[in-house]
Amino acid sequence: MNPAVRYTELMYDRNTLHVYEGIRIVSHGRKEDAGPFVNRVVKALAIIKEKDPRRFKRVQRLRFVVKSWTAAKDAVGCYNPIFRECVVDFDKITKLHKAWQRPESLAMVIVHEATHCLLSDLFGEPVDVDFQIRVEGICYREQARFMKKLGFKISADFDETTYRQNWDRTRIERVIGGFDVISERLPPGKRRAVVDGVGRVLKAVKSKNGA
Ligand SMILES: [Zn+2]
Repeated sequence: MNPAVRYTELMYDRNTLHVYEGIRIVSHGRKEDAGPFVNRVVKALAIIKEKDPRRFKRVQRLRFVVKSWTAAKDAVGCYNPIFRECVVDFDKITKLHKAWQRPESLAMVIVHEATHCLLSDLFGEPVDVDFQIRVEGICYREQARFMKKLGFKISADFDETTYRQNWDRTRIERVIGGFDVISERLPPGKRRAVVDGVGRVLKAVKSKNGA
């Protein structure tokens, strides 16, 4: 096994705080701070299991639900096929509208990411942006069908342009975008240093690319 993957597996073992029906709930931050996250994930998983057993089977394909951060600005969750994990940006969720603080909303995110997991198992990871958008369409429709079972009517529409823009970004731009998102969580003093540093790198990359 690749040493980096092995290392991460060990870290996941160490940071597993709870196991629900075989799904491990992980937080890499301070354990004392993870209580609300673990509680909400357990509630969300229990809702899926009770209200939608068929989709819960799909959710059980996931090995981990992990409290971490997502690089994309407006994403609250993402699926990582390397570890079969549903990443939840819980800090971002806590800053959203109060409807997002309901366990049903987190259940919706988990169903969405579990659909990515299923599609990734069936067809592999997207190799072009049109394929990725088709996959997103299925995941959004699935989350809407799941919410309908809970009595919430939500739209399955999503903004394709964000995905197209992301796909066109170079690897360095994605890394810089990730730093940008992290820097928003830092105290103002430190944030300024990070933003300035990222700004300098971005400028250098742009001038190198002749933009
Ligand atoms: Zn998605």
